[in-house]
Amino acid sequence: MLDMPLEDTEAQRLAALRNLQILDTEADPAFDNLTQVAASLFNVPMVLVSLVDEHRQWFKSRIGILAPQLPRQDSFCSYAVQSDKLFIVENALLDPRFAHTPFVSGSPHIRFYAGMPIRSEDGFNVGTFCLIGTEPRQLSDIEQHHLILLARQAEQLLYLHYRTIQLALQTQQSTASNARYAAIIESAAAGIVRIDGRGRILQLNDSALRMLGYQPEEVLEKNVKMLMPERWATQHDEYLAAYQTTGEKHVIGIGREVAAQHKDGTQIPVHLAVSEVQHQGDLTASESREFIGILSDLRAVAAAREREQQERSLLQVLHRGLTDYHALLSGNTLWQFLKEALKELTQSEYALIGEVICREGSPALKIHAISDLSWNEPTRQLMQKLRDGEMFLSNPDSMLGQVFAGGQTVLSNNMLDDSRGGALPKGHPVLHRYLGVPIIDRGEVIGMYAIANAQQDYDDVLIDWLKPFTSTCALLINLYRQINEQERFTEELKVARDLAERSSKAKTDFLSSMSHELRTPLNAILGFAQLLGNGKQPLAERQQRQVDQILRSGSHLLNLINEVLDLARIESGHTQVSLEPINLQEVIEETLEIVRALAVNQNIGLQVQLEGTQNCLVEADYTRLKQILINLLSNAIKYNRLAGTVILRCQLRENRVHISVSDTGIGIAAEQMSMLFEPFNRLGAQNSSIEGTGVGLALTRKLARLMQTDIFVESTVGEGSVFCFELPLVSISSARPLDTAAVPESATRESAAKKHQVLYIEDNPENQRLMQDIFSEIATAQLRCVCSAEAGFEIACSEQPHLILLDIDLPGMNGFQAGRMLKNNPLTSKIPLLAISASCSAEDQQQASALGFAGFYSKPFNLHALAEHIQQLLSEQESL
Ligand code: ADP
Repeated sequence: MLDMPLEDTEAQRLAALRNLQILDTEADPAFDNLTQVAASLFNVPMVLVSLVDEHRQWFKSRIGILAPQLPRQDSFCSYAVQSDKLFIVENALLDPRFAHTPFVSGSPHIRFYAGMPIRSEDGFNVGTFCLIGTEPRQLSDIEQHHLILLARQAEQLLYLHYRTIQLALQTQQSTASNARYAAIIESAAAGIVRIDGRGRILQLNDSALRMLGYQPEEVLEKNVKMLMPERWATQHDEYLAAYQTTGEKHVIGIGREVAAQHKDGTQIPVHLAVSEVQHQGDLTASESREFIGILSDLRAVAAAREREQQERSLLQVLHRGLTDYHALLSGNTLWQFLKEALKELTQSEYALIGEVICREGSPALKIHAISDLSWNEPTRQLMQKLRDGEMFLSNPDSMLGQVFAGGQTVLSNNMLDDSRGGALPKGHPVLHRYLGVPIIDRGEVIGMYAIANAQQDYDDVLIDWLKPFTSTCALLINLYRQINEQERFTEELKVARDLAERSSKAKTDFLSSMSHELRTPLNAILGFAQLLGNGKQPLAERQQRQVDQILRSGSHLLNLINEVLDLARIESGHTQVSLEPINLQEVIEETLEIVRALAVNQNIGLQVQLEGTQNCLVEADYTRLKQILINLLSNAIKYNRLAGTVILRCQLRENRVHISVSDTGIGIAAEQMSMLFEPFNRLGAQNSSIEGTGVGLALTRKLARLMQTDIFVESTVGEGSVFCFELPLVSISSARPLDTAAVPESATRESAAKKHQVLYIEDNPENQRLMQDIFSEIATAQLRCVCSAEAGFEIACSEQPHLILLDIDLPGMNGFQAGRMLKNNPLTSKIPLLAISASCSAEDQQQASALGFAGFYSKPFNLHALAEHIQQLLSEQESL
């Protein structure tokens, strides 16, 4: 036996064989016919269509051999498949390759073999078509040619077999894929429409049928236009034709949002994607072109979009209502804005918004904004009254009443048959749908809104959706109420303030006129008493005592008037302090000048302990601080024990100066402390011989508070009291010598021999007399009195006196007007003016100085000071 070497391409050959899928297949008559033809044509006992695989030769057709296959080893076919041409063994016994193989040496005693290789389409020898005989034989050329032809035929049959299998496979695959596509199309969630090039509907899947409300028979073979709204349907044919001729695309291959038409006529928003189905055929014929449209129902998307849009609109309304409420409220447009917004948001025809108020113990609705529901003149007037807040709704059983009085949400989508509504008056606009919603705040119905005649039914979803609107309305109603309350309060305050101002003005007017009325006679009393006391002829002792008494009582009265006026001025808010850095030591020195005499009189030791506060600058009002110190010191002296002590102490405490006035006096009982600062309360001192008005401490505390500090007291009965207060420290300045002893020198200067002319304009004869008495002491001057400013002005122009004394409170032209005229007239402008007035107000003093007066004397004035000033002015005139 000879082992035959396998070719290098054996593996590919085997693959080509397997690819044919012929091995172990059923017998095929086509092959069998071929082998039979060969057996009879060549007259051989055995003919095979043999396919040679790795280990065996398998027979697709066999004649003369029973076995369906035989081992490849030792086979003739193994040799034949490796050859490129006809392989012939004429006598196997003579061929050493086969002589000893079993089929030659044994049954079936093969002697002759002729095998032609059969090739696969890709050129590999996969088997043989062979003739086998038991006698040695030769094949003529023609026989060999015939054998080759038969082998070619067998090859063709192999190819056919292969194609048949491929076809079957393809058919199977395409059936499966068709079934799959059909299933996909039918069960697709999207609607699928198949049409031909003329627009005829070929198929509509279930989804499309459901979406558009049709049965298949109602649409098949019809034009697809029936599924489109008018505006698209009219153009569709043209569009389809244009696409097929020019390829111009609108929807095909693009996809866009359009509307489909439901069988019931409604329009459905859809996304439509159309593609042309590519298949063989005559593409120029419209019928053979096919288009598939995929419709995605966008109703949910559109609804979501609409919801989102609504949410956004609602948010915009709420945002504007909340952020702009002030502007809207002040322009009275808030409710109008909310009503309009409500109408729009709910697509309603009518809307109203109102606030619940309480009228005669029952809830009533005050309309803030309402759509016009009037239908004639009387109802128009009624609506106007409702809008203007002149009329309220109070029926608790009406559709509105159930909301604002009952606190219920009332919803009706069939108002015409709703028994709750009752009959509307004739002419009233018809209401179909109605929704009334209470606006509740902390369990209380504070308002309501109602809407009517929306295009769609009202429902719970809408009520829920409107909840933020409802809460915003609650908030705005509360704000509105608060603002109204505030406005009312401000108005009341204004009325109260006006009243207080009026009464304060009346009080001030009263006090200033009273002070004028009191000061004028007092001026005369004190003036004459002073003249009497200081007269050239000495008085008898008794007379002197009486004069002193007049002077004491007069100055007590004057004190009282001054203090009461001061207090009244502070209380009416007319007193202003000017806080500025002032030298504390200087104020103290001046104060001591005033109270020292009192202390000496009472035999009281007066000590000042400055403790490092010398030359301190404190923030205070100079005059008011002096007033406070005088008051505390004089009290400490007055209410002291015999030969007692008063200590004025100033201490630095961080950035403040602590000032205390302590005495060794009678002290104040604890139970009286609370009354200490009450005006006119003298705590029993009125029964003693100590002079006082009971106003000083009240005034002192008020002045202290005006200066942003306060007075504190500590006292022990029988031991003494300490009154103290603090002032802010500004700085400690470098030492500056105090010149408290400076005395005006002009007072004593002798005037020239020539008499000076002085004009006194004063309507009060007593005051004129007083002034004449004063001038009788001034040898160098001569006084002339006139009763009115008008007369005074004339004399001033004609005689040009050296000095004019002007009463301010004159009948007719007052002193200031006269002063202005004198200063503006070149004939009189140089004449110095002195104002003498019953008023002691700071404003009057300021006005006088602004007009150029040389001085301002409040009645009752200090005679000495006035006389000195007069002499000084006259001597200045002389030196000109
Ligand atoms: P008055 O003009 O009576 O002194 P004040 O308002 O100054 O009025 O004081 C009110 C009252 O407080 C005094 O009448 C007196 O009874 C009491 N008082 C004031 N200062 C002292 C003090 N230093 N010691 C004891 N009592 C005082």
